Amino acid sequence: SLAEKLQGAFKNLKGKGKLTEKDVKDAMREVKLALLEADVNFKVVKDFIKSVTDRAVGEEVLQSLTPAQQVIKIVNEELTALMGTTQSKLKYASQPPTIIMMAGLQGAGKTTTCGKLGQLLKKDGKKPLLVACDVYRPAAIKQLQVVGEKLDIPVFEMGDQVSPVEIAKKALEHAAYYTYDVVIVDTAGRLHIDEKLMQELIDVKAAIDPTEILLVLDAMTGQDAVNVAEHFNEQLEVNGVILTKLDGDTRGGAALSVKAVTGKPIKYACVGEKLTDIEAFYPDRMASRILGMGDMLSLIEKAQENFSDDKAKKLEKKFKTQTFDLEDFLEQLEQLQKMGPIGDLLGMIPGMNKGAMKDVQVDDKDLNRTKAIIQSMTLKERQEPSIINGSRRKRIANGSGVHVSEVNRLLKQFEQTKKMMKQFGQMEKRMKRGGGGF
Ligand code: GDP
Ligand code: MG
Repeated sequence: SLAEKLQGAFKNLKGKGKLTEKDVKDAMREVKLALLEADVNFKVVKDFIKSVTDRAVGEEVLQSLTPAQQVIKIVNEELTALMGTTQSKLKYASQPPTIIMMAGLQGAGKTTTCGKLGQLLKKDGKKPLLVACDVYRPAAIKQLQVVGEKLDIPVFEMGDQVSPVEIAKKALEHAAYYTYDVVIVDTAGRLHIDEKLMQELIDVKAAIDPTEILLVLDAMTGQDAVNVAEHFNEQLEVNGVILTKLDGDTRGGAALSVKAVTGKPIKYACVGEKLTDIEAFYPDRMASRILGMGDMLSLIEKAQENFSDDKAKKLEKKFKTQTFDLEDFLEQLEQLQKMGPIGDLLGMIPGMNKGAMKDVQVDDKDLNRTKAIIQSMTLKERQEPSIINGSRRKRIANGSGVHVSEVNRLLKQFEQTKKMMKQFGQMEKRMKRGGGGF
């Protein structure tokens, strides 16, 4: 993978105390190959390597005590910059409704993404309407309706005998009348760009004057996706990109090139077929992911902000001696809560899979119940959770007013956290020992 190749490129640097300009340039040659192999646009790679090299061969870096880390940090920063540096938010119309028009090739994920975005906006308190303007693909309307039903979001359609321009216009009247505040327009795609498709999109755009045109791109298609983006952007002037199928075995090329080539930011990333598999796109997080560090950098930052040295040392000892108990767990949960949802944190750790994260997600309400459960335990039980058998579980459940299954879940969470902390501890050790080896 790209991450492995990049780490390989840095490996030689790490073994050395002091770096020379040649060391850096050798490493950069490897980085360059890795990026090209990941299907990143050639010109983007060239510019990228130049910026990194210019910064990395500076006196400060080469003279520093940890030159390898400095170089990695620069690569990380430049990758982040390449993707736009900061998160690009969705623009809302000053006068509702906000009109979002989807565009993209067939199969890119437009229809699915209409639902995903609707779901996200609905969660945000908006009242979205989906509009079925794909009158060509058989069952395209039905597909959007199924999506809408699952999410309980209404779908406006007029069958497939009316022109997309007409449907879109009528949908806006409908939205105004029923006070929808966001209108998401699904459009038709073709297998390849063709002029008829483009003209139709241009006509729809002219008819409804969208607040945002979002280009849906399949990340699996790498540089092709970027070529498509360039063409669509020339004709339609899109506002941003939604990158789909990032869950697949993508090489990263599309994510890294699209902003640099088109000037348009990636606003959302889709990471699966489920309607909840969408997230806001953060260039810095993506960069760390591409570097194969999970979000280690931000995790370490967060951890440093929240844990005092003392506490961390005490905790580390507990992990090492395997004396981490439920009381520590409770304290940890409170600390982690300050740092954000624990699921996010786990996702930052390289190698943690999503499945494991789901079981460990904690929110405020959960946390208070968790507290109640632990407080219903005897001190001995807290210190030695393995003694909590069936009858004890029942007693604890009764005491804290929860169902036994919640006690079970908590104990499972505890075990998982223990495992995760162990993993984290080992990783930290490796980082210290290996002169910063990620
Ligand atoms: P459209 O032709 O652009 O409207 O694309 P669709 O929404 O019909 O999606 C085409 C296929 O891609 C469907 O099978 C979707 O389930 C799938 N798909 C869409 N987004 C994602 C994603 O983020 N990850 C994965 N794995 N599949 C996706
Ligand atoms: Mg579709």
